[in-house]
Amino acid sequence: MNRLDAIQIHLEPGLRALMEARGITEEDVCRVLTFAEGERRFYTQKVTDHRLASFTPAKVTYWVEYGLKVDDYEIRSVYSHRMKILEGFNMPSKKEPEEIGWLCAKCDLPLELAAVKLTYLDETFVVDLPACPSCQRVLVSEENAVGKMALAEQMLEDK
Ligand SMILES: [Zn+2]
Repeated sequence: MNRLDAIQIHLEPGLRALMEARGITEEDVCRVLTFAEGERRFYTQKVTDHRLASFTPAKVTYWVEYGLKVDDYEIRSVYSHRMKILEGFNMPSKKEPEEIGWLCAKCDLPLELAAVKLTYLDETFVVDLPACPSCQRVLVSEENAVGKMALAEQMLEDK
C-alpha cells in the first residue's frame, strides 16, 4: 500500500478527538481515500462539492467526508458502522421520493431512496437509505451510522 504515503490529509480542529472516541485512525482514513480516489468510488454533494466515501477492510465500514484542496484532502467527518450492507439487493423504496443532494461519481447520477438490506450478527434488516439507481451503492449518513445503526448494533450484541 505505497500509495498511502502519497495522500496528505488535513484534519479539522476537533476531529482528532472525535476519531479517537470513535476508534478510527488516520490510517483508516487514508485507506478510504486511497480506495475512493483510485476507483472513483465516492459521492459528491451538489452544494458543498464535498466527497463522501466508504471502505470496508474487514468487519468495520469506515466513512470519510472530505473536501478536495490543491495538495491535500480536508477531512470533514469520519464515522463507522459494523452492520454490513448487502449490496445488489436494493428494492424500490415505498417512501415519498426526497431530494438527497448527493451524486454517485462513478455513474454521475443523483442518489435516490431505496429499500436496502443490512445485516449484522445473523439478523437482516430492510431500511430506506439513499443509493445509486445504477450501481446500487448505498450512502450511510453520519446521523444514521452513529444513531439508529449504532443502537441496533448495540442491541444485537447485548442479546
Ligand atoms: Zn453509481
